[in-house]
Amino acid sequence: MSPWIRQIEQALAELRTLVPEPTTEDREQERRYAELLAELSATMAPAHIARLNALIDADADERPNADAGATRLWAVADELIQAALHGLTNFKLALPRAVGAVYLAGPGSHPYSQCRGCALVLPLGPDHHAEAQAVETCPECGGGIGRWDKWGGGPTLPTPAEKRAAFAAMEAERGTSAPLLWH
Ligand SMILES: [Zn+2]
Repeated sequence: MSPWIRQIEQALAELRTLVPEPTTEDREQERRYAELLAELSATMAPAHIARLNALIDADADERPNADAGATRLWAVADELIQAALHGLTNFKLALPRAVGAVYLAGPGSHPYSQCRGCALVLPLGPDHHAEAQAVETCPECGGGIGRWDKWGGGPTLPTPAEKRAAFAAMEAERGTSAPLLWH
C-alpha cells in the first residue's frame, strides 16, 4: 500500500471518530420512517407526490421561493409519519387527493381535525386558532368531523362548537329543573 493511501486512510479513520456512528436504534428508526413514508405515499395522488419530489429536488438556495403549498403538504406528511413512529394508532395514515389538495391550496391549514367514521386526519384552518373547518364532512367516507387527539392518543374529540353546545344544553336543563342556589 502506498504511503499516501495509508495517509488518507488514517485521515478518514480520524474523521470517523469525530462523527458518531449511527446506532442500531437510529437505523431502525430510519427504516421504519421509510416504511411509513411508502405506506403514506401509496394513499396520495401521483400529482401531489410529484409536487413533493420537485420541492425535495430543488437546490437549497431555491427553497426560500419554493412552492408554499408543497412545503406545507410535506410538513403534514412528516407530522403524520412522526405520530405513527411515536406509536400513535388513533388515526389513519393517509393523505388522499381531496385532503392533500387542501394543504396545497391553503398552506395555513393544520392536521388537527379528524373523521369520526374512518379516523382520517383532516385539515383545520386556514388558521388553526380559527374554528373554520377546512372540510365540513370527510371527503373519503362522508363522516362527521371532530378533533384529532394528537397528544392524548384517544378517540376523536368534540370540536369547540360542540363543547359549547353541550355546555349550553346542560345550562338550559339546569335552568328549568334545578336552579342554582344564588338564582
Ligand atoms: Zn372518513
